[in-house]
Amino acid sequence: MDTALADRLAAVDERIQDAARAAHRDAAAITRIVVTKFHPATLVSELHALGVRDVGENRQQELTAKRAELAGFPDLKWHFIGQAQTNKARAVRAAADAVHSIDRARIADALDGADGRGLLDVLLQVNLTDDTGRGGVDPSGVEELAAHVAGLSTLRLRGVMAVAPLDEEPVRAFERLRRSADAVRAVVPDAEWISAGMTGDFPEAIAMGATHLRIGSAITGPRPPRD
Ligand SMILES: *Cc1c(COP(=O)(O)O)cnc(C)c1O
Repeated sequence: MDTALADRLAAVDERIQDAARAAHRDAAAITRIVVTKFHPATLVSELHALGVRDVGENRQQELTAKRAELAGFPDLKWHFIGQAQTNKARAVRAAADAVHSIDRARIADALDGADGRGLLDVLLQVNLTDDTGRGGVDPSGVEELAAHVAGLSTLRLRGVMAVAPLDEEPVRAFERLRRSADAVRAVVPDAEWISAGMTGDFPEAIAMGATHLRIGSAITGPRPPRD
């Protein structure tokens, strides 16, 4: 067992506890997703031994391969956090327990049409930058997209997701995300998930109400280069 991995995980969990306490929030209500992209399946099995159950991947092929390799750990919950392509919807649906990156009606329709078992948890990814080319729906379009997704019978709309822009105080960006979260809840009142906070900004995300943190390198160590 990699003791450095265990130490990093414990240190992050302690920071989560501290940030939750400072925000008068219950840390038990916050889900810490470990982002394992680019790392081998063996790292995920080590994390599982340390009690991790929620893991995140941002590429469909990698998600599909790792989930298959780790079929012996059926209690792992796989979060897809990457750009979703409509022609990969069936594969994403087959491998993901939750999809955080719904940013247009077409991808929601494709996931809804891909035969899956039961309901798929989905979140709307909101673009908090000024660059319309970045992933995510513009905040002005959140309510309309929420209404569309709410009408799809095999998807369960759970909330919103975002990545804070690099050139802004994360707290200010997460405040805008909160408004998008409110817009979604105006359509689906129990869609209470806010997926926000990465290695560099998870304490701020907790302060702003994040329910799901997506933390990679602070726990896994540096990512190996992309293949
Ligand atoms: C890689 C990634 C993360 C984790 O990033 P770290 O900075 O390593 O914590 C979180 N969210 C998304 C969408 C990512 O692609």
